[in-house]
Amino acid sequence: MADIIQLLPDHVANQIAAGEVVQRPASVVKELLENAIDAESTEIKLIIKDSGKTLIQVIDNGKGMSVTDARLSFERHATSKIRSAEDLFNLHTKGFRGEALASIAAIAHVELKTKQEQDELGTQIEIEGSDLKAQNVVVTPKGTSLAVKHLFFNIPARRNFLKSNAVELRHIIDEFHRVALAHPSIVFAMYHNGSEIFNLPSSNYRQRVVNIFGGKTNEKLVPVEETTEVLKISGFVGKPEFAKKTKNEQFFFVNNRFIKSPYLNHAINSAFEGLVKDGAHPSYFLNLTVDPKTIDINIHPTKTEIKFDDEHTLYAILRSAVKHSLGQFNIAPVLDFDSDPNLNTPYDYKDKSVATPPTIEVDRDFNPFKEKVSHGGGSSKPAVAFKKQNTSSWDSLYVGLESKSTQQDHNFSEVEFESDSKNETLFDDSQTETTQATYQLHNKYIVSTIKSGMLMIDQHRAHQRVLYENLLKNMTVKEAVSQQLLFPLQLHFSSTELPILIQLKEDLESTGFAFSSVKDHTIEITGVPLGVPESEVSIILEQLISDVEQEVPDSNFSATDLLAKSMAKSLAIKTGQSLNKQEQEHLVNSLFACKEPTVSPTNKTTFITMSVDDIDKKFM
Ligand code: ADP
Ligand code: MG
Repeated sequence: MADIIQLLPDHVANQIAAGEVVQRPASVVKELLENAIDAESTEIKLIIKDSGKTLIQVIDNGKGMSVTDARLSFERHATSKIRSAEDLFNLHTKGFRGEALASIAAIAHVELKTKQEQDELGTQIEIEGSDLKAQNVVVTPKGTSLAVKHLFFNIPARRNFLKSNAVELRHIIDEFHRVALAHPSIVFAMYHNGSEIFNLPSSNYRQRVVNIFGGKTNEKLVPVEETTEVLKISGFVGKPEFAKKTKNEQFFFVNNRFIKSPYLNHAINSAFEGLVKDGAHPSYFLNLTVDPKTIDINIHPTKTEIKFDDEHTLYAILRSAVKHSLGQFNIAPVLDFDSDPNLNTPYDYKDKSVATPPTIEVDRDFNPFKEKVSHGGGSSKPAVAFKKQNTSSWDSLYVGLESKSTQQDHNFSEVEFESDSKNETLFDDSQTETTQATYQLHNKYIVSTIKSGMLMIDQHRAHQRVLYENLLKNMTVKEAVSQQLLFPLQLHFSSTELPILIQLKEDLESTGFAFSSVKDHTIEITGVPLGVPESEVSIILEQLISDVEQEVPDSNFSATDLLAKSMAKSLAIKTGQSLNKQEQEHLVNSLFACKEPTVSPTNKTTFITMSVDDIDKKFM
């Protein structure tokens, strides 16, 4: 039999490699920006059209390439950055695999213009899908310009899988942030469809963070500095009260390279433990410097994951450095056992004896078993919605639920499939709506009895469903009631977040939000939906932005629906929240008054039933 093994032609090998290196336009941005940095540029410009689908161009003023190098740069494993395997353990450049340009040229139309300082004229090369189309001598400034057009032109499947322009742009901006943050002394500019998105002058690290994330960031930053034998840490963490719903402001750089490390992220979270609310993510911008010999960057082609020799030590140092900074800047209470107590006592009191000893007052009538008359002012959590005395402010979110008996019967019959007979109601006859027994399990589920057995409701999902349907209704009939704020609320957003909110402004207004002005990263809010606590507003909007950024599918995206889902998620009572009987019953009743009580707005099961038969079986 004849031999059947063949070496793949280069252009096929390149296309396969491209699949790993280039997942989306943002991957090209990353590779080109890193090449510009490796070329020792001091000014780098990124030009994007249609979120990179039409054009990605990087222009730098770095050292450029000779004619031969320009041609070679598109060959696979062609790199000027390492010469031998040993060099791998002493890397000071971003690139080293020599794969990026070859891969990109295999799946796009690429135009390179480059010139070295000492040369009079430069080189221009055009390649389409690994085919050299043109090579010319041109007049061009010192440095390199690389333009990538029609990305994935020969891989339609890839092209079709690209997300909406908003999502792809978000990824590109993320890459831009990472590179720009790692190199504050380099001047960066970014343009999208002709308009300038960033213009970052050469600066120090703090200024770079502020220039990217907006002027208000400055007051949030707490410096972190630590130098040990194995590791140097420098940078900033955000004060805990500014922790965000999204992870957009979390950056680790190791030797100036952005990395993702769930393990080190955990170290930071544990330093913040008890200081930030559940579900909030502290901001951090941290540079770690380690001996290049102690890390292995080679484990992933896109190089955002690296391996450390001694992760445990890094974890401990990082955690304690962050803790220390938070303590030092009076953000976390510290107990310092080593300090001399006299030093902390105001001078005048140092040697005084105690004049009047403090007395203890005891309420002898106190009886812990006596029922409290009122529930007290209590929480501002949405759960108050269920307290009868307080329902007014939340009624708007439950419009139509009060007159539910008829509708309810109808809806109950929809879930009756669990009970034996179609004509029976779901609940025991003896148990009317208000006396039906409910029980809260682990502050998470509400258990109730039904004719056929028992019902278990996920409180968070159920409430999401209830809020979602009401929000949608309010938004479509535009009758939501707005509650005027005494003092307008000013919220700051970055240049990527603001357009999202502006796009959703009308829908937000139909839920009851009122905006008075939008200028330079700041939105002034004068009204909020009735019943939404002022303290929740920024969380709701942040959640909304992150939902839009991350979850927008390409087609049939309805802003109204997404907004209703997102707000329902933010406002719904959380798992872990204890509910009194009345609240539990109200939730059960409201859920079954919904059009689709069986699933949450994100299609997750809201309740399960267990029939007596099932239970009987368990006892067999
Ligand atoms: P790597 O960066 O891993 O070496 P690339 O495919 O990204 O591989 O680039 C191949 C080579 O092309 C680089 O090693 C470098 O010599 C050259 N090169 C790429 N981009 C530039 C640039 N902007 N300026 C100067 N040289 C560049
Ligand atoms: Mg490279």
